[in-house]
Amino acid sequence: MKTKFTGRCLCGAVHFNVTTAPVVVAQCHCEECRRLSGTGHSIGAMFPRAGVVIEGAFAEHSYLGALGATVTKGFCSSCGSPIFGRNTRAPDHITLPLGTFDDAAELAVEVVIFERGRPHWDQLGPEVARFDTQPDWTPD
Ligand SMILES: [Zn+2]
Ligand SMILES: [Zn+2]
Repeated sequence: MKTKFTGRCLCGAVHFNVTTAPVVVAQCHCEECRRLSGTGHSIGAMFPRAGVVIEGAFAEHSYLGALGATVTKGFCSSCGSPIFGRNTRAPDHITLPLGTFDDAAELAVEVVIFERGRPHWDQLGPEVARFDTQPDWTPD
């Protein structure tokens, strides 16, 4: 298992360095993750906190999560990208969103949580066109 990862927000003002293997990679469809991500789910890799260094200016937002835990999410202060999540139920761990990784090719979702919250539009049927990258298309 790979134990070195790097990543950054959209604008690059916040970046992270990981020197440990993830505990778990989870996809979550809870309402908080849907609102925070602006889409149907989040996917995060949880690491022992001691193996994660985050640098740059970020803002935090805390809320009461499931099972009575306080959840704290970190965002880049400039571009708003989600950077990390912490949970008082696992204070020695931190979760990093997979989309911020420079290379997450070796990681895969191991568990889907809050499946009940999955919107019907958050899964694609075979009839949906797929593009490897952004297609050359405009609304006009
Ligand atoms: Zn940024
Ligand atoms: Zn969630």
